[in-house]
Amino acid sequence: MTRTVRINRDRLWDSLMELKEIGAYDDEATGLRGVRRLALTDADADARRRCVRWMREAGLEVRVDRIGNVYATRPGRDRSLPCVLMGSHIDTVATGGAFDGTLGVLGGIEVMRTLNDAGAETLRDIEVGFFTEEEGVRFGTDMLGSAVTAGRIPLDHAHKLADQDGKTVKDELIRIGFDGDACERRPIPHAYIECHIEQGPILAAAGVDIGIVEGVQSISWQRLTIRGEAAHAGTTPIESRHDAGLVAASVVVEARRMCDSGDFGQLRATVGNLDIGAGQTNVIPHEATLTIDLRNPDDDHMTAAEQHLARYVHELAARHGVQAAWERMAKTVVVPFHPGIQQLLGATAEDLGLPYVRVMSGAGHDAQEISAICPTAMVFVAGENGGISHTPREYSTPGACANGTDVLANAVLRLADQP
Ligand SMILES: [Zn+2]
Repeated sequence: MTRTVRINRDRLWDSLMELKEIGAYDDEATGLRGVRRLALTDADADARRRCVRWMREAGLEVRVDRIGNVYATRPGRDRSLPCVLMGSHIDTVATGGAFDGTLGVLGGIEVMRTLNDAGAETLRDIEVGFFTEEEGVRFGTDMLGSAVTAGRIPLDHAHKLADQDGKTVKDELIRIGFDGDACERRPIPHAYIECHIEQGPILAAAGVDIGIVEGVQSISWQRLTIRGEAAHAGTTPIESRHDAGLVAASVVVEARRMCDSGDFGQLRATVGNLDIGAGQTNVIPHEATLTIDLRNPDDDHMTAAEQHLARYVHELAARHGVQAAWERMAKTVVVPFHPGIQQLLGATAEDLGLPYVRVMSGAGHDAQEISAICPTAMVFVAGENGGISHTPREYSTPGACANGTDVLANAVLRLADQP
C-alpha cells in the first residue's frame, strides 16, 4: 500500500507569488509586471536568501557548494543511502516570469512542508536544490551550476567566466555570500526529478496539466557567412550577380521546407538572425550572415538535416558564385531520461487521477546535466497562452502548478522508500 500525500495548493501559490516580487520590474512591451533576476545579482541574492529561509523554516539542513548551488536535506532513516533530489533554478532571463525554474524549487520546498505536515518518515534522505546560472544570460553558459555538478564543466573554468562588465562568477559568489564550501561534485543521488513549466503548447492542446518528459531534444546552432560581390542594382544583369542576400534568403526558405517535408522527422529550424551587410537600397548585398537553430528529438534525423543543409548551401553557393563559411556555435545530442523514473512518474500521475501525455523537451534544463550522474526525469506543467515563456506573459494556473507538484511529491515519496 503506497502512501499518498497532497501538497498545500495555497501555500505553494503564495510562495510563487512572493518570490516573483523579488526582482520585479515593469515590462514596457507587455504592460505587465515581470521578473528580472539574473544569476548572482542582488535580486538573485535576495531570492536565494528567501528560499534558504523557507528551507530552514521547514527544518531542513542547508548547504551551499563551491559553484553556489544550494541544497536542503530532509533526513531519512538510513542516512548512508543516496538521497532523492528535487530541484531547478531561481535565476531568470531579463524579461522573465514567475514560473520558469522557480516552480521546481518552490514546489520542492512545498513537498518538504507537506511531508512534515503528514509526519512522513522516509528511508532515504530527500533533498531540494537550486542550481546557479541556469539561464546563461549573464555569464554566457547555460546550465552552469548543474554542468559543474555533473563534471562537464570544470569548477575553475566556471569561476573565471565573466559578465559584460568583467565581473567573474567567483567574485560575484563571494560578493553575495554564496561561495559555499561543499563539494560541487556532490554525492550521487538515488534519483533526480525536476518539475518545470512546459514552455510550449503541447500539454494545453492535449487538455492536460501534466507532461512526463522523455528527454531533451538535440540542439544545433550554426552561423553561416555568405560573401558575394557588391554591384549596381540597376546596371548589373540578373545572370551575372553574386547576390549574398539572395543566397541567405534561399537558406531561410529551404530550412522551412525541410521542416514541412517530413524528411527529417520532427525537425524545427529557425533563422533568428539575418544580417545583410551594408543594407543599401540600390546595391546588391556583398555579404550576409545568418544563424540557423535546428532542434530534433532524433540524433539521426538531426545529422541528416545538417548534412542536407550543408549540401544545399554548397550547391547554391556554386551556382551564384559566392563563398559560404560555416561556424559551429553549439551542438548537443538528444538526452534521453531514465525509463524507470518516467514509468514511476506515469504510475504516480495515474494513481492521483491526473491525465498526462509524454513529451520531449524543446528547451534545455538542469535535468539534462544531472542525468549524466543519476537516474533522472522531469514533470512538465502546462502553461497558458500557448505555454509562452521568457516573458512576463508566462503563466500557469494554481491548479496546474499544484497538480504537477503533487506528482513530484508522491513520486519522490516512493523513490525515497526504495531500498
Ligand atoms: Zn528553466
